[in-house]
Amino acid sequence: MNHFQYQGNDLYCEEVAVKDIAAQVGTPFYLYSHATLKRHMEAFTNALASVPHLVCYSIKANSNLAVLQTFVNLGAGFDMVSGGELFRARQVGCDPQKIVYSGVGKTEPEIEAALKAGILMFNVESPQELEVIDRVAGRLGRKAGIAIRVNPDVDPQTHPYISTGMKKAKFGINIAQALEDYRRAAALPNLEVIGVDCHIGSQLTKLSPFVDAIRKIRELVETLQQEGFAIKYLDLGGGLGITYDDEKPPSPVDYANAVIEATRGLNVTLIFEPGRMIVGNAGILVSKVLYVKQGEAKNFVIVDAAMNDLARPALYGSYQGILPVDRSNDQRMVADVVGPICESGDFLAQDREISVFRQNDLLAVSSAGAYGFTMASNYNSRPRTPEVMVKGDQVLVVRRRETYEDLIKGESIPPGL
Ligand SMILES: *Cc1c(COP(=O)(O)O)cnc(C)c1O
Repeated sequence: MNHFQYQGNDLYCEEVAVKDIAAQVGTPFYLYSHATLKRHMEAFTNALASVPHLVCYSIKANSNLAVLQTFVNLGAGFDMVSGGELFRARQVGCDPQKIVYSGVGKTEPEIEAALKAGILMFNVESPQELEVIDRVAGRLGRKAGIAIRVNPDVDPQTHPYISTGMKKAKFGINIAQALEDYRRAAALPNLEVIGVDCHIGSQLTKLSPFVDAIRKIRELVETLQQEGFAIKYLDLGGGLGITYDDEKPPSPVDYANAVIEATRGLNVTLIFEPGRMIVGNAGILVSKVLYVKQGEAKNFVIVDAAMNDLARPALYGSYQGILPVDRSNDQRMVADVVGPICESGDFLAQDREISVFRQNDLLAVSSAGAYGFTMASNYNSRPRTPEVMVKGDQVLVVRRRETYEDLIKGESIPPGL
């Protein structure tokens, strides 16, 4: 069941009319459905029930504490990529033994914090990183669990900016070189080699790249096990796509079955790092139409949300659905939906057939739960939007709107300037 649905002409989130939330918190704002978050997480975990597994939700997709708490309550762990994300994970009481740490540029202080927290493993992305983790662990008198993130050189057939597993990507270590680096890791006294990791990209809508990657990686796992490495975890990353427009991504069950089949016989616990597929369609961005303008060549619907609130269209040219919050007017128009920012890249939709919008109408940008608020900035000195979670008939403001004071927090005018 979809928890963003019309009742009559009004768009609802679970049991609450979106227009009532807009009246309460103002616009623009992000809106998340708790029931959808829960359903997506449960659908994914249930699909994997027949194999030993650990789901480490990828914090960067949506890192609001209430969202993270929802997942911790369901037993999930986290995939983190920074010290800041570790801080968030600790705020919601995540079991550190369910945390994996990815990223090409981990700093020493971040590595130290993760070791002190007692995370499960580091997904290591370079030979130099192996040495730094070993040194920091030695200084702290701890052992660091590690996997090497291998780059299997498969094309995920997604947007180039979110393809991460091809030869030319900055991520991971070339699979041909990985064996040598595993041997090097084994010789370092403060590392415990426990896993193999890969993450080939995001918004994948086909199974074949996942299966191709596993085929290549499974050979490495078997070789390592034959050489006496105690490989306990195979981390397959995230990347499963969602429907923004007319994409038909594999269902969680199809994905899980393909993965289970491709890893059959490997004696490992599978780790998954889903982000977008859990939160993407659990959130919308609600905005108000400020002006409708007929330009020389185009119609413009100018709204109060902008690229600083939702960067994906500007960043990747990506498609986000545009829905009326009140659909009583069934006429259509072709327009660009744009924000107030002084950049031509500031659009939410381009040359799109949408409902006819008038001044002061409310508009919902769909599929905005992933890489939405987490990519928001204060560009043009715009306070960041609130985040609201609906749970049944409850409206929970899980991040308040920023104020102008928030904008200048930490800034100073030096005396004598
Ligand atoms: C971003 C990221 C993920 C999550 O990707 P989704 O496409 O949102 O599922 C998982 N693992 C790593 C290492 C990532 O960088």
